[in-house]
Amino acid sequence: MCAGTFLNTRSWDSALLAAGTTLSAMKHILEGLCKTAYALVRPPGHHAQPFQADGYCFLNNTGLAVQFSLDSGFEKVAVIDIDVHYGNGTAEGFYRSDRVLTISLHMNHGSWGPSHPQSGAVDEIGEGEGFGYNLNVPLPNGTGDRGYEYAMTELVVPAVQKFEPDMMVLVVGQDSSAVSFFAYYLINIFIWEHVPDRLIELRTILQLRN
Ligand SMILES: [Zn+2]
Repeated sequence: MCAGTFLNTRSWDSALLAAGTTLSAMKHILEGLCKTAYALVRPPGHHAQPFQADGYCFLNNTGLAVQFSLDSGFEKVAVIDIDVHYGNGTAEGFYRSDRVLTISLHMNHGSWGPSHPQSGAVDEIGEGEGFGYNLNVPLPNGTGDRGYEYAMTELVVPAVQKFEPDMMVLVVGQDSSAVSFFAYYLINIFIWEHVPDRLIELRTILQLRN
């Protein structure tokens, strides 16, 4: 477990509930009950690595949902992580896979201990079969709405279009908004209205099922 990530007697139950809720949301899609599902859960998951809990994350909720969809017959899944911190755990989990495109927009928040050095640079693009299937978009503090939309339009959308996934999973950490404790980007919270819009647009272009 990474230094700075703490457990109490109820943490494991909470982690199981969060992971189960996320899997349940994915199950609703897989069973054709809906096209979009949202899992609002704590603890979060995107820092949890295959062999290490990290950054208050014990189980990688997103990673489990992605694997569930792959095991259920989906061929290619795109993960778009808009949390202000790097989605290192999710990236590591699929770093050698060409079936999962992991994209993370994040700030360079620095190391939070020896077990979590700053990573998420632009040259970390995957390894082996996964080479070219990890896209990191580090953004400077004060990026603002226009900068963020530019990154989405010029980098994220074309990468997803080129990948042609049959499933998209959005990791919606909302700590990149201007009202967050981590308000380094100075992004207006109302930009979140546009992010799903852009992805729904993309879903239509790609004729995605989900
Ligand atoms: Zn975060």
